[in-house]
Amino acid sequence: MIYSDRQKKLAEALRCARVDALLVTYLPNIMYLCGFTGSSGALLVPAERGRSWLFTDGRYTQQAADEVHAAGVVIGQRPALIEACKRVQRARIKALGFESEHLPFASARLLSQELRSKVRLKPLAGLVEQLRLIKDADELQRIRASARLAAGLLDRALQQIRPGISEATIAGEMEFQARGLGAEKMSFDTIVAAGPRSALPHGRASSHPIPAAGFIILDWGVILAGYCSDMTRTVHVGPVSATHRSMYQAVREAQSASIEAVRPGAEVGEVDHAGREVLKKAGYASYFTHSTGHGVGIEIHEAPRLAKGQRQKLAPGMVVTIEPGIYIPDEGGVRIEDMVLVTESGHEVLTSIPKDLITL
Ligand code: ZN
Ligand code: ZN
Repeated sequence: MIYSDRQKKLAEALRCARVDALLVTYLPNIMYLCGFTGSSGALLVPAERGRSWLFTDGRYTQQAADEVHAAGVVIGQRPALIEACKRVQRARIKALGFESEHLPFASARLLSQELRSKVRLKPLAGLVEQLRLIKDADELQRIRASARLAAGLLDRALQQIRPGISEATIAGEMEFQARGLGAEKMSFDTIVAAGPRSALPHGRASSHPIPAAGFIILDWGVILAGYCSDMTRTVHVGPVSATHRSMYQAVREAQSASIEAVRPGAEVGEVDHAGREVLKKAGYASYFTHSTGHGVGIEIHEAPRLAKGQRQKLAPGMVVTIEPGIYIPDEGGVRIEDMVLVTESGHEVLTSIPKDLITL
């Protein structure tokens, strides 16, 4: 049901875009529309009647039979794109949409060669992504489970952290535990950035040892049942200086202010502004060098982007991260990140991990 519901919504959008069908080639969108998680394939979704077809190859015969819903499966001898073109011609499709942001130039050229001038090709952008903005009940269940599993990994990391041990060892422990608990993989390279490296907003876990004193930023997430989680906590080893205490406090208050601003109808720019104002008053505005957050779902970074001046409005069912931070070169950095669901009445934080500064 869920897949045919999603395809029905897409079909509506296709009629508005005046095409007879959409050739979906972006794998996260294929998974969203029919459940297929293989690494190669194309999905043809009609705008009016008729069924959808997934084209893939012999490596995925069993997997497609197990996973694909609301679409027929064609295991082709030739590349999926060519098999799809045959079906397009047989179905007498006159106008075919394709995902212009995801189809490589060479594939687009192949498409027009195969279809010659008989089919009008129309580049379409973001049609499926627009649907994916609002998570349905099945997705929310998966996202909650993914967030819950990931949140449980922090304790293991904290047990490992001591001066001299490498950042990579800590990340490895978290990742080992995640796999044991059923995660498919991490949703991105785990960030463990200690001491001066905590001033790097995206400091991937390295062979650097944990210093005797300083911040450690841990930013991690898992993929569970196809859905990503993403969260950050900053902890401290050794004595905490007054500067570090004030940095932490400022980020924590900024994060609360942005979370409080999350509600249906709020513009994403307002959410960004709420936290940025707190950091400005505390004198840290120039050290907050990235946007406040992003949508999360099948992909770790998806729409909406919560950044300065963005006008997109939040709506119930969106899941976004709220992750302000400050990064002072040579001094260190702090970031706190939670996943937040937009509800009918406001918001719900999906990552339940304490936020008091943990010192080790
Ligand atoms: Zn993150
Ligand atoms: Zn994030």
